[in-house]
Amino acid sequence: MEVYKKEKIENVCIFGGTHGNELSGVYLVRNWLKDGALVQRGSFSTHLVIANPRAVDTCRRYIDRDLNRCYGKGTLGESTNAESPYETKRAQELYHRYLSGAPPDGTTADFLIDLHNTSSAAGNCIIIPYNASPVVLQVCVELIQRLESLFVRVLVLTEQGTVESTAGSCKNTIGVEIGPQHHGTLKTKVYDDMSLIVTTTLDILDQINKGELFPERQLEVYSIHRRYDYPRDEDGQLNGTLHPDFEEKDWQPLKNGDNILRTLDGADIRLENETETVYPCFVGEAAYYEKGLAFWTTLKTILKVEKLPLDD
Ligand SMILES: [Zn+2]
Repeated sequence: MEVYKKEKIENVCIFGGTHGNELSGVYLVRNWLKDGALVQRGSFSTHLVIANPRAVDTCRRYIDRDLNRCYGKGTLGESTNAESPYETKRAQELYHRYLSGAPPDGTTADFLIDLHNTSSAAGNCIIIPYNASPVVLQVCVELIQRLESLFVRVLVLTEQGTVESTAGSCKNTIGVEIGPQHHGTLKTKVYDDMSLIVTTTLDILDQINKGELFPERQLEVYSIHRRYDYPRDEDGQLNGTLHPDFEEKDWQPLKNGDNILRTLDGADIRLENETETVYPCFVGEAAYYEKGLAFWTTLKTILKVEKLPLDD
């Protein structure tokens, strides 16, 4: 019974609206707050949270700064006042109330599901920390297998990408990132797929809590490799866009010599300096223009997934 206790998940948090204009998670959380039957399970409590309510109210990604870059130790430890960025204060509040709190005013989540949309053609993507736990990895394997028709892919963040985002804010975290969906809009298929991924994740966690055996196995993942920006002029303004051959080619193999970008005066830019086949993702994501990012490349790798329950 000690093993059972060790893996016990008592509190699951579901964040919608970390980015206020990514509406699938906003509406799922709103609807589950009205009727939570779909997200309640016998073996743990589920907490539903609109993560960035002011950004949701104005249907913007954020008010002052990107909330999903506010979970680093520095930002969480900053002293704040009335002038501080709203998201700095909100990340601290979320962290102390849901992710590292204690009763009666707070809880410490054992598992966090953070809901996002992308305008890119990334499909159904689960984003996990660079140091994902066996529980998170088993959830990924099970989601891929149980939801075969959804073609779920798993993206592994870098260490830096983990520590500043929700991915590093809880001992077990998955980001659910689904597209294409324009920001500020809602698509039925994307909404339904996200709902199914969340409810299936909760089923898996309930089974883990009950001590069911999940064998040791392997998981194919895409690990963040390099970032690529658009061509820009000396003022930082766009001087090019995605190459027409490359649009919506998320996860398609890409090698040196393939067209990726085109300058506004018509010169093709090809991939170079990669040493092996890479797999691009979030190609042309709308929210990344301001971040100096046209797309990521990833490397396909295999992770070993430890069995559950873990041995003592
Ligand atoms: Zn997002």
